[in-house]
Amino acid sequence: MSKQNQYAGSCLCGGIRYEIQGEIGEIVQCHCQRCRKANGTAYATNAPIRKADFKIVDGEHLLKKFQSTETTQRCFCADCGSPIISIKTETPEVYRLRIGTLDTPLNHTPTHHIFCTSKAEWETIGDALPQYDERP
Ligand SMILES: [Zn+2]
Ligand SMILES: [Zn+2]
Repeated sequence: MSKQNQYAGSCLCGGIRYEIQGEIGEIVQCHCQRCRKANGTAYATNAPIRKADFKIVDGEHLLKKFQSTETTQRCFCADCGSPIISIKTETPEVYRLRIGTLDTPLNHTPTHHIFCTSKAEWETIGDALPQYDERP
């Protein structure tokens, strides 16, 4: 498998553009209620990246931070609402990227589901990936 280590992404309105010079970690489908609400979807698709690898190249002033829990900040575009990253107090050197905002193709696929006990009652998980009640 080819190792691509340069990625670009943007929000829906294009006001925020970012670049990642480094690896994108394991892709996780998060079914927690906060991700559902933040995205308006059944689950969020997130992957860890190193803070040091992440650079906002346009629209940094649009990146609004919402304190979602005592330990989690969710960062999104103030103009269009696209979720971009979340930051946890315990791991400030790692950002969790909302990979739906990537413009560069990604060559790996999701590895597991988390917070499955919080999934919406109308959702059916349709793949055979491991499902965890919380974080494994
Ligand atoms: Zn935007
Ligand atoms: Zn979540």
